[in-house]
Amino acid sequence: MTARKPGAPMPPALRALIHSSVAHPARTIACPHCHALAGRPCTLRTTGRQLPQPHPQRVSAWAQATAVCPECQVEPTVPCHDDGRARHTVHDRRHQEAEETAA
Ligand SMILES: [Zn+2]
Ligand SMILES: [Zn+2]
Repeated sequence: MTARKPGAPMPPALRALIHSSVAHPARTIACPHCHALAGRPCTLRTTGRQLPQPHPQRVSAWAQATAVCPECQVEPTVPCHDDGRARHTVHDRRHQEAEETAA
């Protein structure tokens, strides 16, 4: 064991707090789920209430539009696939890639 101090990663709760206070970069595209326009927050289709976070489908579409997928090696705008079988959502790693690129 070395005497090196452990790093101080940001607690998840704090991270979530910071993230929720900033508009998610996925808002730069329209939401395929609730049809929110680009730049507008997602809303609940039933009540019209605005959501603090974009729909997962929107985040997925945003990741697909902006990032290459480290998992299945597709270019931006090309949907992810599992061995040639189309996926409805992007791979988690592509999502991470998009988040890191936007940060
Ligand atoms: Zn939405
Ligand atoms: Zn993929």
